[in-house]
Amino acid sequence: MHMPLCSRCHKNVAVVFISKMEEGSTSNEGYCLKCAKELGLKPIDGLMRQMGITEDDLDQITDEMTNMHSLMNTENDDAEDEEIKIVRTKRFGMKPMYPEDACIQMELSGHDFFVFRNAENDEVNVVYKRKGHTYGLIEPEC
Ligand SMILES: [Zn+2]
Repeated sequence: MHMPLCSRCHKNVAVVFISKMEEGSTSNEGYCLKCAKELGLKPIDGLMRQMGITEDDLDQITDEMTNMHSLMNTENDDAEDEEIKIVRTKRFGMKPMYPEDACIQMELSGHDFFVFRNAENDEVNVVYKRKGHTYGLIEPEC
């Protein structure tokens, strides 16, 4: 699950969502705290009061949220998923396999990366998904 990014700056996590009615169709837009404030969106004042933040905190809070967001994206979606991953990593981790097999295991596990023992060099390597259906391989430099 990816958190939506601000539709204005495309940089920060969107926390304020508004529905726009245009020609009978509704579109949802999300803005980060900063942009919502700059745009003068109504919900933002109540939200800030609710969260107990002042205008001075806005920059910091927005940065923190964005950091949290990128951390969350490198981790797995929920606890249940995490549990499955650990089991699989243990089971396959010690068994040497080729990077191609590791990619298959990664696809099966539904995660974006997979740690395995590379049969080609007997080292622990990581394969990860890249954009455009390609894979990356990380080998430790000794
Ligand atoms: Zn923004």
